[in-house]
Amino acid sequence: MTDLLTPTPSSRRDFLRTLSLGAGATLAGTAALGAPLDWLAPERKLGVALVGLGNYSTGQLAPALQQTKYCQLAGVVTGSPEKAVKWQQQYGIAAKNCYDYKTFDRMMDNPAIDIVYVVLPNALHAEYVVRAAQAGKHVICEKPMATSVADAKHMIAAMEKAGKKLSIGYRLHFEPHNQEMMRLGQSQAYGKINHLAADNGFKFGSGGTPWRVNKKLSGGGPLMDMGIYCLQGCLYTKGQVPVSVTAKFAPNSNPALFKDVEAGISWQLRFADGTVADCRTSYTENMSRLRADAAQGWFELEPAFGYGGLAGKTSKNDGKLNLPNINQQATQMDDFAQCVLLNKPTRVPGEMGLRDVQLLEAIYRAAETGQSVSTKDVVQLIDRRSAH
Ligand code: NAD
Repeated sequence: MTDLLTPTPSSRRDFLRTLSLGAGATLAGTAALGAPLDWLAPERKLGVALVGLGNYSTGQLAPALQQTKYCQLAGVVTGSPEKAVKWQQQYGIAAKNCYDYKTFDRMMDNPAIDIVYVVLPNALHAEYVVRAAQAGKHVICEKPMATSVADAKHMIAAMEKAGKKLSIGYRLHFEPHNQEMMRLGQSQAYGKINHLAADNGFKFGSGGTPWRVNKKLSGGGPLMDMGIYCLQGCLYTKGQVPVSVTAKFAPNSNPALFKDVEAGISWQLRFADGTVADCRTSYTENMSRLRADAAQGWFELEPAFGYGGLAGKTSKNDGKLNLPNINQQATQMDDFAQCVLLNKPTRVPGEMGLRDVQLLEAIYRAAETGQSVSTKDVVQLIDRRSAH
């Protein structure tokens, strides 16, 4: 055990040889013993291929991949040959690692790509995750995982068949402020949580990406895009999956723009022990807040869900949470790379993505019918790691 925790130069060499034989070969035992990973310095970082070079890939993921320790930007998939050339020059990507949507499946023969990161409009996630599985790659899929429960289940089955790992791009599970909400809530640091509130939205405007208001491509409006963070926040703060939901669409102030998807929606989650969560999302309002009111105090984040500048406080002397803002995406991708290298489970697996798609569908059903919808049958999965 001591050897594993403080590797000698020769055990480190053996370890690196193991890595170079193939990612995730035989290291589960090491992870189980809680070996620190800082000495894990693979000679070849795992290669990540970004699929879809839109705003999130360009503005967040590619820059974050310049800061990762265990993975690197090795390839891209784009429908635009000009973008491919630009990215090759900007990031030193080999031309042989650039694909379009037709040649995508040839990645099967490319050992430089270990992880495929699907960053496409929501409705396209399923097709490309399944094709990545068939190409024998590990996958990170952006949120929401899919636009239907059936698609999410199909994706998980394809990844299982391939024997590869699937995670969802839930960056906030790796973010200190949100991890503190998990810890305070799940450990009941302020007693039992009686009420949760979560709001997340932005003003869509005319410059918004058109697929987000096209139901066929998005699966829905702000609930799919921004509301999913409220849902996640309530579940990981409470540490439970709700038992039922009610919901109501907001009035549509711009029917010309929001003709296919909701402009906003509010919903209430009910948990088995009586806790209620009030959530709201919108494409017409800027908001980002997560708050818990508990028996002996309260704790909250505002802003709660962005890429940076997150801040929080608690009722303890109105104390500010003194926590760092980190590069969430770099940390998220490095964590997944370690899961692959050490063959350990990700804390944000496909099953969590499926759980959330089940809940999103239930929220829409509740809003459409005006009825309370039972959520007792959804996947029972919570990230509990940060609670201790
Ligand atoms: P975007 O519109 O900026 O980029 C989408 C990319 O997909 C574009 O490069 C576009 O050319 C390509 N594409 C391929 N086929 C397409 C088609 N048929 N129609 C439209 N575009 C097509 O979108 P984005 O903001 O980068 O979002 C992409 C995904 O990432 C979404 O699932 C979104 O929910 C997710 N996302 C996650 C976060 C996060 O914080 N985790 C943030 C932003 C976006």
